[in-house]
Amino acid sequence: MDSKRLIIIGGVAGGASAAARARRLSETAEIIVFERGPHVSFANCGLPYFVGGEIVGHDNLLLQTPESLKARFNLDVRVLTEVTGIDRANRRVRARHAGTGEEYEAPYDALILSTGAAPLRPPIPGIERDGHFTVRNIPDVDRIMAWIKDCQACRAVVVGGGYIGLEMAEQLHRRGLVVTVVEALPQVMAPLDPEMAAWLHLELKAQGVGLFLNDPVASFEAPSATEPARASVVVLKSGQRLPADVVVLGLGVRPETGLARQAGLDIGPLGGIKVNEYLQTNDPRIWAVGDAIEVKDAVTGAWSIIPLAGPANRQGRIAANNVFGGRSRYEGTWGTAILRLFKLTAGCTGANEKALRRAGIPCQAMHLHPSSHAGYYPGAEPIAMKLLFAPGTGKLLGAQAVGVDGVDKRIDVLATALKAGLTANDLAELELAYAPPYGSAKDPVNLAGMAIQNVTGGLVELAQWSEIARLDPSSTVLLDVRSAAERARGQIPGSRHIPLHELRERLAELPRDKEIIVHCQSGQRSYFACRILTQNGFRARNLAGSYRTWKTAHQG
Ligand code: FAD
Repeated sequence: MDSKRLIIIGGVAGGASAAARARRLSETAEIIVFERGPHVSFANCGLPYFVGGEIVGHDNLLLQTPESLKARFNLDVRVLTEVTGIDRANRRVRARHAGTGEEYEAPYDALILSTGAAPLRPPIPGIERDGHFTVRNIPDVDRIMAWIKDCQACRAVVVGGGYIGLEMAEQLHRRGLVVTVVEALPQVMAPLDPEMAAWLHLELKAQGVGLFLNDPVASFEAPSATEPARASVVVLKSGQRLPADVVVLGLGVRPETGLARQAGLDIGPLGGIKVNEYLQTNDPRIWAVGDAIEVKDAVTGAWSIIPLAGPANRQGRIAANNVFGGRSRYEGTWGTAILRLFKLTAGCTGANEKALRRAGIPCQAMHLHPSSHAGYYPGAEPIAMKLLFAPGTGKLLGAQAVGVDGVDKRIDVLATALKAGLTANDLAELELAYAPPYGSAKDPVNLAGMAIQNVTGGLVELAQWSEIARLDPSSTVLLDVRSAAERARGQIPGSRHIPLHELRERLAELPRDKEIIVHCQSGQRSYFACRILTQNGFRARNLAGSYRTWKTAHQG
């Protein structure tokens, strides 16, 4: 296809990317983009920061306008125009302008659907009350800001602890509101494993944000005379009542597939549009991209819904390539994501432990807490890292990191490693840029690789924080090898104490008929201790992430 008509439905992340690529591939094609909303190619990822005032003015959210897209790419962008039907037999779409009500049909030779995903609004009693908002586009955040201003809102309740909910919580707090986050699951940020999400729980509490976990909303009720709330009293299953002047619903999204369903396109079991590796639907003239489709999880191979901007943009480009005769394959989605929450950054890539166990994929977890850069250079901060790897081969399966500094860089290196199918041996060998303000001669990624090498190479076996509560004292000893000063600041109940530097002299105090689980503060000294113990005939395992991981998992 070269000089034909391409219609794209949805003009934001995937749609705008597809349209711009399409023009670069064909100067003569007629390219029409239908966008239901008033804006095309806007920064939906920037919306929370607009609410908090970090991004000021609509113009800074508008990456392009219909006029700029016309001028640069000769695209025919029709905003406020919803496609209401697809007639596949005659290859036409039906469109309706929201302002004028005008309806018309437009023929296509190829169609790309990038209709995105709609925020969930489950039928919780009272959810339709005034002052309850979802966040998807610029009009949504305009409404939130107008409501906050008009009713001089002081108290916000954010329902849902996913990344949109957490970003909104941070930004509402920045605006001076008293914020509470409510989450039905036992943790926020489901892509993280619970002990990693625990860091975020602690940060929310440290910043004065209320947090209710494991406690779904039962109803949104009208406030009583004694309850100051402009929007609702958010009533939790536990009976807790939270008066709110504004309620933000961050309950996840559902692929927007109405058009695709009505046109008889295949829908996958998870409710997203089904596409092949070329992002083509069961109609060879129709491609689909972005939040509306089901994608292969690149690690587990399972079909998944992973609504992220990076995949949507890449898919838009691939679909355009294929419309114009290319054979670009979409390899799958790794779910690489990052969140700033006040002082912390949390990032992840690939599968988490929960997903690997669900998929029946054997895995081991390495926890470590390296410094973001050389410890002797001011400002170094620990990064809590968790790497999932295949036992035996050490192939990387997923990674998570939380910290004040340096998380983004490590997650991106690990995402690249994952895409390349690297193993722990490769991570240990990566030559990464180093000067004291930026990293260490052994970067945290190198250290992670080396620590896993020690496991796959048989030098040490790991224990996990979740085992500690179940340890049987008749067969196991928990040994703390930190200094007395560190131990005085907190300890795992039931542990025995022998500082590392005394261990060789005090081996006789340890039983030879029991397994010894060794911990220090972050796992390095306890690894040294394990080497001493095993070479002296003891059975020992190193507690991955040691006291830091255990303590956070318990406190968070
Ligand atoms: P969208 O970008 O949502 O575009 C779909 C468009 O299709 C919509 O504008 C809709 O109006 C239009 N449309 C739907 N049906 C029709 C129709 N029938 N006719 C005409 N038009 C139609 N992802 C990240 O990776 N990082 C982030 O930090 C991040 N932050 C986010 C913050 C917020 C508040 C939100 C809402 C999303 C965020 N995302 C983030 C997710 C990211 O924005 C989406 O994954 C991405 O935009 C999906 O692209 P898409 O093209 O599939 O859908």
